[in-house]
Amino acid sequence: MISKEMVTYVQSSSLIRAMFEEGKRLSSIYGPDKVYDFSLGNPNLEAPKEVKEAIIDILSNEADTLVHGYMNNSGYEDVRSTIAESLNKKHGTSFGEKNILMTVGAAGGLNVIFKTLLNPGDEVIVFAPYFGEYRSYTANYHGKLVVVSPNCADFQPNLKEFEDKITQNTKAVIINSPNNPTGVIYSEDTIIKLTEILRAKQQEYGTDIYLISDEPYRELAYDGADVPYLTKYYENTIVGYSYSKSLSLPGERIGYLVIPNEVDDFENVISAANVANRILGFVNAPSLFQRVIGKCIDVETNVEFYDKNRKLLYEGLTKIGYECIKPEGAFYLFVKSPIEDDVKFCNAAKKHNILIVPGTSFACPGYIRIAYCVAYKTIENAMGGFASLMAEAGEELVAASK
Ligand code: PLP
Repeated sequence: MISKEMVTYVQSSSLIRAMFEEGKRLSSIYGPDKVYDFSLGNPNLEAPKEVKEAIIDILSNEADTLVHGYMNNSGYEDVRSTIAESLNKKHGTSFGEKNILMTVGAAGGLNVIFKTLLNPGDEVIVFAPYFGEYRSYTANYHGKLVVVSPNCADFQPNLKEFEDKITQNTKAVIINSPNNPTGVIYSEDTIIKLTEILRAKQQEYGTDIYLISDEPYRELAYDGADVPYLTKYYENTIVGYSYSKSLSLPGERIGYLVIPNEVDDFENVISAANVANRILGFVNAPSLFQRVIGKCIDVETNVEFYDKNRKLLYEGLTKIGYECIKPEGAFYLFVKSPIEDDVKFCNAAKKHNILIVPGTSFACPGYIRIAYCVAYKTIENAMGGFASLMAEAGEELVAASK
């Protein structure tokens, strides 16, 4: 019999994954070109050619025993140095190899850092709407997720409520910018105010509050938008990064944590994270892809691909009458559900072979998330279905008001 804890996880298993599976089922019935799957943040864009070239080069020229062997649990030293130098060049930081720990994607990195930091009952603050997996990652280490309610005006964090929710037990705060699901980038003004609050609260309670910046979408910023690098604003910052989105490598499970020297209890945090990576069973991040990253450090993300999709979807949907803010980053549109019940709306969309995710999964009911990391054609072909759905929603609202 499975554990009691897993019973609840299975029951509340990800709606996003359920939609993704539904997409595969519908594709087998109607054909993939008749199903418009906007459910999962799975890039429909090939990895850059440099990735394939690097794989061939590594497999041809590096010793098998190196490429396929164990290494330090934090990852290959040369790859970590390359990443540190690249960050220093981009952000004017002064990281070294020791500050970088290679992880099994962003998800692996978050689990490592929670295992490293959390005692049972420690509070982790998140801003709704937020990536639903944070609930499980926190619960894995018996932490308590504390949710700051959404600010639906512009989806910047609600800082007053944030300040009120920090307690003696607050151990960490997660921020995710560019944001999944809203596409919002937290402004520098927001970051300055948020970190001032954290600094004051650390002092008030005499505690350490770690700011965890989960940023797999860092490179996906449009119209030249700036994404502040958080270690420059607050000493106790740990950054989680992943190549899942920027290099279209979600199945390869490769990312890293940045743990700066300035972090409180640095030496212990860094050694504990190394051990956590091992004892969680990751042991180390995938070896071949660590080496690939070492060679592809300067490869740029194809932002234009997503930007074209963003414009097509945003302009198309707002013309039909959908309401949403224009995303500045990531590859999601967070749209007000035309009817109050977002879950019902997403079920109605399935009848048009459109798969989207209710805002309820992100602790923000009344909205829907549309992942536009799909083929341009998918967006073009889905527009008719979105228009029909809007018309049906209008009829339902008229009927309800009679
Ligand atoms: N954090 C956020 C905000 C995400 O959207 C995702 C994936 O969609 C992850 C973390 C997990 O990323 P990875 O596949 O690199 O583990």
